[in-house]
Amino acid sequence: MDIRFWGTRGSLAKPGPHTVRYGGNTSCVEVRSASGTRLVIDCGTGAHELGQSIMREGAPSRGHVLISHTHWDHIQGIPFFAPLFVPGHVWDIYAPQGFGESLKETLAGQMEYTYFPVTPEAFGAQVRYHNLGEGCFTIDDLTIRTRYLNHPALTLAFRIEGDGAAIAYACDHEPHSRELAIGEGEIVGEDLAHAEFMDGVDLIIHDAQYLAEEYQAKQGWGHSTVEYAVTIAKAAKAEQIALTHHDPSRTDAQIDTYLASLRAKLGETGPKVFAAYEGLVVQLGSGEAQEPVATPNIANAIRTGENEDRARVLLVGDCAVVTDKVARAVENEPIELLLSPSLSEAAAEAARLRPSLVLVHDSAWAEVPHAFGDGVTGELPIVVLGGSGAPGDGYADRLEEPWSVEYARTRIRTWLMRAECHWARPPIPNDEADRVAALKRLGILDTAPEERFDRHTRIAAALFRTPIALVSLVDADRQWFKSCFGTDVCESSRETSFCAHAIASDADLLIVPDALQDDRFRDNPLVTDGPRIRFYAGAVLRSPEGKRIGSFCVLDVRPRQLSDAERGLLRDVAASVEAELCTPAVKAAKAA
Ligand SMILES: [Zn+2]
Ligand SMILES: [Zn+2]
Repeated sequence: MDIRFWGTRGSLAKPGPHTVRYGGNTSCVEVRSASGTRLVIDCGTGAHELGQSIMREGAPSRGHVLISHTHWDHIQGIPFFAPLFVPGHVWDIYAPQGFGESLKETLAGQMEYTYFPVTPEAFGAQVRYHNLGEGCFTIDDLTIRTRYLNHPALTLAFRIEGDGAAIAYACDHEPHSRELAIGEGEIVGEDLAHAEFMDGVDLIIHDAQYLAEEYQAKQGWGHSTVEYAVTIAKAAKAEQIALTHHDPSRTDAQIDTYLASLRAKLGETGPKVFAAYEGLVVQLGSGEAQEPVATPNIANAIRTGENEDRARVLLVGDCAVVTDKVARAVENEPIELLLSPSLSEAAAEAARLRPSLVLVHDSAWAEVPHAFGDGVTGELPIVVLGGSGAPGDGYADRLEEPWSVEYARTRIRTWLMRAECHWARPPIPNDEADRVAALKRLGILDTAPEERFDRHTRIAAALFRTPIALVSLVDADRQWFKSCFGTDVCESSRETSFCAHAIASDADLLIVPDALQDDRFRDNPLVTDGPRIRFYAGAVLRSPEGKRIGSFCVLDVRPRQLSDAERGLLRDVAASVEAELCTPAVKAAKAA
């Protein structure tokens, strides 16, 4: 994997005699895998030269732009990125999903006629836009994980793995803890999670706009200090850290000076520290293409539908100033703000109001988890506004003073997006108790494999040309497979089960042509990971009493359709399996 820096300056392009060596262009990093997959992380002014370089290659380009956030210094190169304007080139652009506004509209904002002569309509290339949340996705041979950063705009960090190497990119990001920002204190809470996200990577590319001694005057501006960046890299046990997003007023000489003092302090310990400069190339990994890395139980980062429901945010506290700030933070968001002046009232009302997020203003915060009860805090994020000291268990996060309206807005968005239920848990049928009782009466759960079932899954897999076929029985909290062709797994959780959806509807068939296009399944762990199911077709299996006890299903890792004739055949095979299920094993053995 080759990493090339095209822009390393933060906030504003700064050409001139004092930025010659480290560069004056704003953020832009190119990542190329051994097999040729091309990612561009952020599209600041450095993207201009990258675009020219791609055009010189002569061939139509294929690439992916990952935008950490849509502040100018990360997107200003887009209208000057030549490959986007030329027919035949194909580019995908990924950026954090804003509330209510599409990514294309956001990017088009800087290309309106008052700011720029051409609109995105002039893009000659095929350009596709993708909204990102927290989670994971793959681009060819690269696996990309995302995590929200702490910045006044909704901003994502990227962790990219491929060719046997891993890098992390985190610009722009302010330490959650003001102490850590000046190189003191312990790494806890969200800062710890930030370090864990980058755990063990070969290279961290990190916002290092300020020095600890400058931080006091820059609190709330949304950036890291070099000291914080190095602390995080040490905690993450990263091999190397490239400090970047250099402040526009930082001279080459000043960068040399702070690097020397950082290295002296680190000695032989910790990661290799350097400052990113334009033209720098870092080579990592084996140099050989490898399969994308599997990522267990992580939601798909690519969001499809827009968030249409208004989320409810409950603010606990009676300070007029705080209430006003929070009200301003959510005024143009699809958010309903509920106010509760006292903690006891809020706790009593929470069950009825069903908020997605609770904000607590300082004085009340110590008592909150007790008042809400443990059951609530597990799923309901509680964020403390202000106060001092680290909040204890039961809290998701705390906004340190001074916090701005913009910070509050971003943190609220972050937590609401995290709280979103990603995949649909299967509904529980009305006759659940009778249904489970009927299944248990068959006496088949946890029995050994039998040829009379295995021959059905074998036939179905051949008939429908799928890698997997199952006789799946939906127990109270699991699905258990009486026969499993194409997999060694003999049971899995009901929560992620496709078959549990099949039995919960009225239809006799559940067909999911492409799980990634289906909101119920697109970020189900069985889709994003494990067998990576894309296609599912299941025919409901009934007990002798007619209870829906499971499904006979075929699965594929590619999107598929079933013709009407094939749907009929799937029902036929399922009917034959049903007949076997209703025949006790002993009798079946005698008949054989
Ligand atoms: Zn920036
Ligand atoms: Zn920014």
